[in-house]
Amino acid sequence: MVEEKEVKQQGNKIIFIYRIVVSIIMIVSIILVYILNNLGNSKEVGAMANNISNETNIIDNNNTIVEQVTSEESLRKLNDWKLILVNYENKMSEDYIPPLANIDNERQFDARAIDSLTQMILDMKAAGIKNIWAQSTYRSPEKQKRLIEESIQEYLEQGKTEEEARSLTLRGIEEPYRSEHNLGLAVDFNNVDNEFEDEPAFPWLVENAANYGFILRYPKDKEDITQIKYEPWHWRYVGPEYAKEMKDLGLCLEEYVEYLKNN
Ligand SMILES: [Zn+2]
Repeated sequence: MVEEKEVKQQGNKIIFIYRIVVSIIMIVSIILVYILNNLGNSKEVGAMANNISNETNIIDNNNTIVEQVTSEESLRKLNDWKLILVNYENKMSEDYIPPLANIDNERQFDARAIDSLTQMILDMKAAGIKNIWAQSTYRSPEKQKRLIEESIQEYLEQGKTEEEARSLTLRGIEEPYRSEHNLGLAVDFNNVDNEFEDEPAFPWLVENAANYGFILRYPKDKEDITQIKYEPWHWRYVGPEYAKEMKDLGLCLEEYVEYLKNN
């Protein structure tokens, strides 16, 4: 009888330990899955938003965690499609397909912003600026890929190595899903070159584009922030509300998004 009881007690003990081990494994797995999920999502910009919640812990220069509080008003702005930030560190979601409308037979723009673009061009012409046209607007990610391949091919034909050709190409063209042209909210004017700065259209745009919702996306004095060389020809639609605010504050899009997160 005594032996039987001992065997039974030992059996209970083993089952008890077994259950604890299983529970620990389950808890660790859940934590791991959670961490991996958050890592994967951290840098992909959502279809309609910059994925900002109003309390985000950020790490400051002294490596201490400080609380970042964003107001409801700023949160509304950050989650607006007009402010989607696409750059070297923010890739747009591959599922995002903008609603498109045709400018002409070849060119398309976001349907929610196309009237602002066409009206701006009409008003420039009415102001006596004859030499103005939208050269490059929406580009599909597939077209973006094709442009990169073509450029690499050109460099290879000039005798560059594969590595040189790729790096030279990526200096001038962003990878697919990293270009604002894939969003349908960017327009390149005229010959897409630095000469555009000396054309009458440029000072007109600097003065008036914000009223139509457009900003000079890669200004000369913000190269270290945008990580893109000055592009006088590239203008981005963000809507008049934000364009005017950014102009008044003297902020580029990266700075404005950061500003909203802290206000
Ligand atoms: Zn452009």
